[in-house]
Amino acid sequence: MKNSFPPSLGNRLTSLPDSLYREVWPDPLPYPRLLHWNQTAAALAGIDAGGVPPDDLAAWLAGNRPWPGSRPLASVYAGHQFGYFVPQLGDGRAILLGETSHQGQTWELQLKGSGRTPWSRAGDGRAVLRSSLREYLCSEAMAGLGVPTTRALSLVDSPLPVWRETEETAAIVVRMSPSFIRFGHFEWFYHRNETGHLAQLADFVIEHHFPDWQGQADRHLRLFAEITRLTARLMAHWQSVGFTHGVMNTDNMSILGLTLDYGPFGFIDTYEPGFVCNHTDSQGRYAFDQQPDVGLWNLTRLAQAMSPLVATEELKTVLESYPAQFASHYLDLMSARLGLPPGRKHVGVILGLLELMQANQLDYHRFLRDLCLFDAAPDASNHALRDQCIDRAAFDQWASGWRTALAEQAVPEADRQKRMLASNPKYILRNHLAEEIIAAVRDAGDIGVLDDIMRALQHPYDEHPDLERWSEPPPPGTRIELSCSS
Ligand code: AMP
Ligand code: MG
Repeated sequence: MKNSFPPSLGNRLTSLPDSLYREVWPDPLPYPRLLHWNQTAAALAGIDAGGVPPDDLAAWLAGNRPWPGSRPLASVYAGHQFGYFVPQLGDGRAILLGETSHQGQTWELQLKGSGRTPWSRAGDGRAVLRSSLREYLCSEAMAGLGVPTTRALSLVDSPLPVWRETEETAAIVVRMSPSFIRFGHFEWFYHRNETGHLAQLADFVIEHHFPDWQGQADRHLRLFAEITRLTARLMAHWQSVGFTHGVMNTDNMSILGLTLDYGPFGFIDTYEPGFVCNHTDSQGRYAFDQQPDVGLWNLTRLAQAMSPLVATEELKTVLESYPAQFASHYLDLMSARLGLPPGRKHVGVILGLLELMQANQLDYHRFLRDLCLFDAAPDASNHALRDQCIDRAAFDQWASGWRTALAEQAVPEADRQKRMLASNPKYILRNHLAEEIIAAVRDAGDIGVLDDIMRALQHPYDEHPDLERWSEPPPPGTRIELSCSS
């Protein structure tokens, strides 16, 4: 059964120790305007806003009206930021409204940009339209690509001025996730030596997300092993789709292995393994090719935080399993992109392709999509692909290895091409595209563009002839700088 709007919310997080959260009411947002309502996410949570006038809907989604049952709260956490421990961070501009369930799945609803909280430090608790649009679009783009992520239900904006590098205006995204708990929540209790509370947090996660393990003696070890598996899987997805998060601090790491906290993220364009999307990251700590290792570094911080609950040797064994888990997920995903079976067998073809792309400065997404139409016949010239390479002989050599691997499959060509088209997206939220949409919505007032871009991003493997333009790589020489306030 669908929930009527607004759904009545539960407040399960309030069963956690008091020191983890504070009740905080959103600051009303003046003149909220509904820019977009994500019907796909709403359907997942069974939320039906049909018949609610847009202005009323905007008022609810801006946090201007108390949702039934809701006891809104902001939570505190700690975290390692750029390698250094920060004992107190927290939801500085996010407020959890509560949770609602549909078809056996519970979704927590969070306002992002709803005003100051006890953990805002010097911040204003607001989010600007530009960064809200980026989070709104990218959450759904990632979901469309099949990458685990938090979701976005709605986007509202307001004429309220917000000062960043220049004067901008405020917006609020309602985020949805099965959980917003971060590695940093565990670090919070660990560094305060609150072992009983740490165990309560672990048991809370188990009760709500892995209920089969409740009461088992090894449940905390299993939890850590599962978070490790989910993190390795997430890193594999990011590397496969060419996504760079930008700020992989432990406070931005989801305990369910979801992409969380979209800030200065960026998809690579030309294949450049050392790509850094966040220009404040001058050391390149969170460069594209560093992400799998950072995932492990962050898990090591989580292991430390869980060390009062699980024997160190056991945690270490789990951590040691991470590289192989990552590699196996990654090779499976990349094999699928090349029409090959899962497993290690074709690792040479995959690595060879990455080398070819790097040496020839090929566009990562475009080239993979174009490869779907490769003609595997021995005498085929494949000149459309070959001509994209500066070093054509290198292409021929790589293609001959790939052709041999494909020949082993005994899959009809048409089937192979069809399967590859369903694994290699045509539409990617590249930074220049995000900029174009921001300019259209914010500067030109074209809200209608949001339906179109959501259609492309939520179905990125399909053809959208009317939106073809948005599948283009950036014009040569375009480089967009993004910082944490992005
Ligand atoms: P982020 O880089 O978005 O993950 O944010 C890092 C920390 O800064 C988190 O604790 C955020 O809640 C906080 N923060 C970011 N922007 C603001 C803001 N405008 N007002 C208050 N807190 C903020
Ligand atoms: Mg964050």
